[in-house]
Amino acid sequence: MRPLLPTLLPGLAALSLLALAASPAEPEARWWKGNTHTHTLWSDGDALPDVVMAWYRQRDYHFLALTDHNVLQQGDTWFPISERSGSRLRPEQVEAAEADLEVTFEQRAKGEGQDLRLSRLEELRTRFAEPGRFLVLPGEEVTSSWRSPGKDGRGHPIHVNALGLTRPLPPQQGDSVSEVLNRVLDSIADHGAEEQRTMVSHLNHPNFGWGVTWEDMATMRRGRFFELYNGHRSTNDQGAEDRPGCEEMWDLANIRRSLGSDLPLLYGVATDDAHHYSGNPVAAPGRAWIQVRAEKLETDALLAAMQAGDFYASTGVVLDDLQADPEGDIGTLSVTAAPREGEELTIEFWGARRPADGAVPVPELLASGPGPELNYTWTPGHLFVRAKVISNLQHPDPAFEGERQAAWTQPVRTR
Ligand SMILES: [Zn+2]
Ligand SMILES: [Zn+2]
Repeated sequence: MRPLLPTLLPGLAALSLLALAASPAEPEARWWKGNTHTHTLWSDGDALPDVVMAWYRQRDYHFLALTDHNVLQQGDTWFPISERSGSRLRPEQVEAAEADLEVTFEQRAKGEGQDLRLSRLEELRTRFAEPGRFLVLPGEEVTSSWRSPGKDGRGHPIHVNALGLTRPLPPQQGDSVSEVLNRVLDSIADHGAEEQRTMVSHLNHPNFGWGVTWEDMATMRRGRFFELYNGHRSTNDQGAEDRPGCEEMWDLANIRRSLGSDLPLLYGVATDDAHHYSGNPVAAPGRAWIQVRAEKLETDALLAAMQAGDFYASTGVVLDDLQADPEGDIGTLSVTAAPREGEELTIEFWGARRPADGAVPVPELLASGPGPELNYTWTPGHLFVRAKVISNLQHPDPAFEGERQAAWTQPVRTR
């Protein structure tokens, strides 16, 4: 979130214009829409990976990561085609996919029935990727669990998506949620260092099974992303009576990270976590996504822009521009949204300030006003500021009751 184009020195302007005339213009950064969390028959989704790719590509997404549990789409995996109840792959689905996508899937006889070979990542790339139009990001949901001790002990799901990886990474174990979580983040960061590539890891649905608390999130060392919104209806994103929702957890964790450590602020993604492509509404696709600002639709460029915080999360609201301009210990966060027809927007600035009496800061609504444009100027004593843009429009396929469409920017450190 910085000004994008360097200011030309006046004396060089003419020269630069000449240079521009002689060579193709530099590509300008723009927003690319994508989903970084979805499932297929490679794990517990209910659709062929090809059908999932086509679903997103046909709806003008620019990138997609298939993030099946503990697997990358590599090698030969055969899936049974069956008419039995509970079957996730019926003969008519195979026929429809072959007709729609103009492909022929490899099949082999198995006992009385027939198996289909699931398409590998490289095959999906060949079929669906197109430079500047659609990018297939390698992904995996590294799926670990930690069991608390004692007779009331229970399992805590700890799911982390790895984006940009080149080999599958195994789940981890440890003596606490924080230890398991950090071991997974370490394994992804180490893999990125080995491969000398930018990778992104994001903690998924912390409230699913009440697996991960905001205190755990505050300890994340080598990964800074988490799902502030997950489209699956069973992930408790809104919290419960005695448990904060994901948005409040975000601010609570960032307050602790700002005060007690040098850890960077956590960034929030919104994802579908889609499992159901055949009418089951529980984890349907299309509920949430991110928009990443980059010059090129390429894996390294997109993931580097995410690492720089140059992206926002959305369930429908469209943003045009975001700028953060720090000057010493004051600065301005500016948000410009792009309302759609009939849409009215409210822009809220959230963050935390150090109370004068030395008490622990709490998440605060710092300011709010009507869109589509609003700025917030921070002053000494602020820890961080972020913006949330809320629409008057209902979500067309809500994850929770009464949901309105929204967008969230990344927090900016202000101290
Ligand atoms: Zn999960
Ligand atoms: Zn998932």
